[in-house]
Amino acid sequence: LAAALALSLAACGRDSRGGLYDGRDEDEEGGTIGISMPTRSSERWIADGENVVRLFEEAGYETDLQYGEDQIENQISQIENMIAQGVDLLVIAAIDGSSLGNALQQAEDAEIPVVSYDRLLLDHGHVNCYATFDNEQVGRLQGQYIVDALGLTEGGSDSFNIELFAGSADDNNTRYFFGGAMSVLQPFIDDGQLIVRSGQTELNEITTEKWSGAEAQDRMDDLLTTDYRTERVDAVLSPYDGISLGVLAAVKSVGYGTEEQPLPVVTGQDAELASLQSIVAGEQTQTVYKDIRRLAEQAVAMSDALLSGEECEVNDTESYDNGVKVVPAYLLEPVSIDASNYQLLIDEGYYTEEQLG
Ligand code: BGC
Repeated sequence: LAAALALSLAACGRDSRGGLYDGRDEDEEGGTIGISMPTRSSERWIADGENVVRLFEEAGYETDLQYGEDQIENQISQIENMIAQGVDLLVIAAIDGSSLGNALQQAEDAEIPVVSYDRLLLDHGHVNCYATFDNEQVGRLQGQYIVDALGLTEGGSDSFNIELFAGSADDNNTRYFFGGAMSVLQPFIDDGQLIVRSGQTELNEITTEKWSGAEAQDRMDDLLTTDYRTERVDAVLSPYDGISLGVLAAVKSVGYGTEEQPLPVVTGQDAELASLQSIVAGEQTQTVYKDIRRLAEQAVAMSDALLSGEECEVNDTESYDNGVKVVPAYLLEPVSIDASNYQLLIDEGYYTEEQLG
């Protein structure tokens, strides 16, 4: 029977470790994990891929890591190939959270469990668990940083100009980051302490396709030309370091960055090396550090549990409704970093002294 099974599995393009039936055999060790990442254009995702692969290999698994390079079609076909190859489990960080329904259906049909990594997979029920950070808290940290840096207080009478940037519209995290930030900023916009000269305050007016720093720089150039000829921009809500550097390039090109015309407060996310160096140099003001080493550990632990027929360890069963179900999630804590506390990243071994020096 085993031989016949192996043959029929081989015939449909799967090996005998295909994971077609309820994970692996009891006594089976390891297996192959398909890991689908969005892009290598940002260093965090390169590190995510490396971390996840290393941890799975240490735990005795084989891995197949692929990057969609921000092309949705690539990611779909990469995942479909992994399923056809008979991987035992999929770990997916989606480019577009809603685009993978067919692939998830195929995974479900083949009984391949799916762990959603960092970004929530939407609109399909076959998502076993979700490893991520408290994404709303990321946004709250960014918003609160601006409030504190400008010295805003309830009932205060000074006013400052701010512009708002959000991430890619197809990434579910975008609305959590923006929602978290606006929960802090909106009261100050309402009472006039913060003024958005462009008037662009709706999420659909301020998103940045594929989180592109170049697109953010273009938008900031336009805003400076249109709304800030005679006004100064005091703060920019940026959801991600690549966008922050684009914004900084734009404001520097029109003369910000001097004693008379200091740079605006600019937030960020990911603690990417270039942004850390910018913070140390006194340019970008803040970033949000998310220890993606912990995220990788969480995803691997979840995968290991699923492949052993156990439930994932989660700490949130309410926040992440993907349109079909609330996906059980493990949320890690993000940390706000600026020039006053970046030493933490050196202490934690995230960067070396030399890199930030
Ligand atoms: C991630 C962020 C990242 C962004 C752009 C989001 O889904 O959660 O950490 O900055 O994508 O890559």
